[in-house]
Amino acid sequence: MPELPEVQTVVVGLNRKVRNLEIIEVWTDYKSDYYKGKKNIKDPAFFKKFKKEVLGQKIIKAERRAKNIFIYLSNQKIIFVHLKMTGHFLFGDFIYNKGEKKYIPKDKNSPLNDRLNQFVHFVLVFENNKVLALSDMRKFATVSIISAAEKDKVKNILGPEPFGLKISDLNLERFKNGKIKTVLMNPEFIAGIGNIYSDEILWQVGIHPETIVKNILKTKWKEILDFAEKILKSSIEIGGDSMSDFRNIDGEKGKFQNKHKCYKLENTKCKKVGCGGILEKKKVGGRVARFCPKHQKI
Ligand SMILES: [Zn+2]
Repeated sequence: MPELPEVQTVVVGLNRKVRNLEIIEVWTDYKSDYYKGKKNIKDPAFFKKFKKEVLGQKIIKAERRAKNIFIYLSNQKIIFVHLKMTGHFLFGDFIYNKGEKKYIPKDKNSPLNDRLNQFVHFVLVFENNKVLALSDMRKFATVSIISAAEKDKVKNILGPEPFGLKISDLNLERFKNGKIKTVLMNPEFIAGIGNIYSDEILWQVGIHPETIVKNILKTKWKEILDFAEKILKSSIEIGGDSMSDFRNIDGEKGKFQNKHKCYKLENTKCKKVGCGGILEKKKVGGRVARFCPKHQKI
């Protein structure tokens, strides 16, 4: 699932590619009864409205808050996207294949044609005939259109962004009885951290994923916040994590998967110098945590 660095990579890509372009066509084959009557393009009635609002508009800019993407249009409306499990945007030359009823990249040898980019379910076509395509293998991504006031509502329920944070910015009282891994992954506590980065942060600071928040010392919290920022920024710099299906807007992989210290490394030797532990995995709050039982103590 894309986490903060991957979504940031998407937004940087969007701002590089689609600013000032006019939308001349919109297409989707998303359709789900579950979304009937909801503000989501998976409801065909809503998609009609969506289409009316976006056609002829220019894209002003894209913005990230937590793992949400806001794409601002020239008519003050905002396309609101959550990539969920497997969504990622691609930009380039696509053609509509009438036989297969889907958009495919013109150039078969382009990274846009990567196996994991072939699940295009939503498309914006621009005046220069370039295409912004949302590839989404599991089809859990959500696309809507909202007003500025609705956007503020989404933004306000989220916790702070994990950059330049002080302990006083955290709502430790509300989350004091939670397990640290579960709490770190809660977007109302800190925005944007998911399974990969919570494992990596806790490995770095030497805290067991099941440690109860109220038992963590203030000095340790400073380390958690410092490492969270450092790890997330280092992943953004190298284009995010593509161990799973994430690809950037050009269809290419990020490189953070090569830097993992513990995520998906269970049963291997701990990489911490002089530790000698063997990494384990365990379910914590419904998610699989990877950790070193030797240097990550409760
Ligand atoms: Zn270790």
